[in-house]
Amino acid sequence: MAFIIQIALPVPLPRLFDYDSETLPAVGARVRVPFGKRELVGVCVGEASAPDDSYQRKAVIEVIDEHAVWPAPMWQLLNWASDYYHHSLGDVIQNALPVLLRQGERASYQATTRYQVTEQGAAVALNDLKRAVQQQRLLAALQQSALLSRDIRMQEYSPSALKALQEKGWVEAVEHIPAAAQSWQFEIAAEPLQLNPEQALAVAAIGAAKQAQTYLLQGVTGSGKTEVYLQAMADVLRRGKQVLVLVPEIGLTPQTLRRFQKRFAVPVVMLHSALSDRERLDAWLDARAGSAAIIIGTRSAIFTPCKALGMIIVDEEHDGSLKQQDGFRYHARDIAVMRGHEEQVPVILGTATPSLESLNNALNKRYAHLQLSQRAGQAIAAKHVLMDIKNLPLKAGLSQPLIQLMGEHLKAGQQVLLFLNRRGFAPALLCHECGWLAQCRRCDAYYTVHQGKRQLQCHHCGAQQPIPRQCHDCGSTQLIGRGVGTEQLEQTLHEKFPDYPVLRIDRDSTRKKGSLQQHLEDARDNKYPILVGTQMLAKGHHFPDVTLAALLDVDGALYSADFRAAERLGQMFTQVAGRAGRASKPGTVVLQTHHPEHELIQDLINNGYSHFAETALRERQLTHLPPFSQHALFRAEANNSEAVIAALESIAKLFPVRDDVIVLGPIPAVMERRAGRYRYQLLLQTEQRGLRAQLLRYVLPHLEKLPELRKVRWSLDIDPQDF
Ligand code: ADP
Ligand code: ZN
Ligand code: ZN
Repeated sequence: MAFIIQIALPVPLPRLFDYDSETLPAVGARVRVPFGKRELVGVCVGEASAPDDSYQRKAVIEVIDEHAVWPAPMWQLLNWASDYYHHSLGDVIQNALPVLLRQGERASYQATTRYQVTEQGAAVALNDLKRAVQQQRLLAALQQSALLSRDIRMQEYSPSALKALQEKGWVEAVEHIPAAAQSWQFEIAAEPLQLNPEQALAVAAIGAAKQAQTYLLQGVTGSGKTEVYLQAMADVLRRGKQVLVLVPEIGLTPQTLRRFQKRFAVPVVMLHSALSDRERLDAWLDARAGSAAIIIGTRSAIFTPCKALGMIIVDEEHDGSLKQQDGFRYHARDIAVMRGHEEQVPVILGTATPSLESLNNALNKRYAHLQLSQRAGQAIAAKHVLMDIKNLPLKAGLSQPLIQLMGEHLKAGQQVLLFLNRRGFAPALLCHECGWLAQCRRCDAYYTVHQGKRQLQCHHCGAQQPIPRQCHDCGSTQLIGRGVGTEQLEQTLHEKFPDYPVLRIDRDSTRKKGSLQQHLEDARDNKYPILVGTQMLAKGHHFPDVTLAALLDVDGALYSADFRAAERLGQMFTQVAGRAGRASKPGTVVLQTHHPEHELIQDLINNGYSHFAETALRERQLTHLPPFSQHALFRAEANNSEAVIAALESIAKLFPVRDDVIVLGPIPAVMERRAGRYRYQLLLQTEQRGLRAQLLRYVLPHLEKLPELRKVRWSLDIDPQDF
């Protein structure tokens, strides 16, 4: 064979593999190779300079791509990510590829279906469809232009409406093969708004960008960040460049899509989980070929190659969902900043409540800090009310003063939003006679009571069973829910406010596809005066008629072992507060607490998020916590705790004993036992990133040889968020 090449394979082993090949594939091209008894799709990393002769080399079966899958800067980025996260390049690549490409599918388009109106359909008067709203909406769109099947899904048109229109002979399906690279013209669909001075300053600063600058765009909710995005994007699009936009949650993509489409008549693709694998690949190909002007997606969209990237926007940069919590544990915001650097384009991190990491980068001038302190238009900031609930009787978590306040807002025809971060009826089932609590057999956790389904569910391992009639300890039938979840809150609200319909939005009430979208729309349209939700509701949604928002129970965060709990509470409070009130209807936000005197809460209420966050930053500095130190967390789990502890101890011993290196543990995870497995962790803390990387580079190769590690499942998390 002519060449020996190095291949990155989707296996957890942090190394490359040598293969024989008759041709020399491009660096970054996919190849199919034998691996053990399997065939895997890997990526060529280059020619082996010092072939590893310790094993019998096999030959490449097939070179799939003629050229590299990614443009050069993206390839750099993937290599950087592998290095920074100490994660196998093959697995990094695996995460960065659409499913079909992982499986070895060609990186080219396939025929898809396009829907268009027939002659008859073009002539239909939309008013005739008044009674079939979904059909009307779809036909209206199709009369404007044909839609691909993926557009239909992306824009959430109803499949049954489509079918009905086809059956009436108004719409037909034709085969469509997308062209390889379609160019587009920049076109404005609607005139931009007149910016206020702060917005204008922000747009101007971004327009004058040093190419790779990162901006922290900090603007209170409703301050018009989106307008700043839009006007900054206009400049980029006008130059024929693409914009990549990350949103924290798939529920927010259609909303974002609509706002962008309203402004720009350019092709937008969405990397949406509702798309089929094929449709996702097509969207990815559109981005890579440059036929898509705007690319919107969640976390993993940061790895979408773009032919002519001009800007990256990370909306709600503080949001936890940007961090992947298993396998390749990357933070999409940090990857975005690095990508901006590699591709020499500006990155905008937008939020009302910056993460302390980003705030610190802004304060020490690594990021440019752009602030929008006023609500756009005429809206004024919400009034904050701290409600001391010590000694007050609570009805499903509601105090009497809050119930009274709710009544006033409801009577005035306004909307009320209640926020409780616990789904289900009650977080535990208690025996009233002996105090027994129903506990999951496989976790250190209590079962959550789900009344509607008459079930106990463990929210940690998914175990479920019917609600028992009797106490397992004493046989009493006096079993009651302890604590309050959203389901119970909803029920109580029906009793307290029988005249006002209640809408609950949590994971249980939005399981059906499309139901979250529908619920959010109903909430926005004020079809329900009372909204109840978990943190799903605290993210970036706008409910114009909400004038009262209340957080029912946040005390847990004040005394949490997690040093990030306070930061998250501050963000949640500020985000929820941002949902309340607008121009003609000033808003009120209520925080119920048993600890009204708590310093954090006082700071938050009296001085606002920025002040609160800067205080929190100073505290982190004093206690040497991130971002003033660097964390890496080893996690391990197994069926017996001795094995887990021994495994982490053997890792701990590999680190040198030095003043500037802290190795903490092994200590039990917050939930020591989950799904029957014992979980422990070991924390590495250094002051400098460089030292952390150096230590891990030295330690990790030894781990393969540690016998203790073979008995457990373990992982490494760089910049861990929850532990
Ligand atoms: P954010 O994303 O910061 O929460 P939005 O961009 O959604 O805020 O803006 C909130 C509202 O204010 C929107 O209805 C938007 O159309 C409006 N708005 C934004 N900028 C302006 C402006 N300069 N003049 C008037 N209205 C504006
Ligand atoms: Zn009992
Ligand atoms: Zn469990």
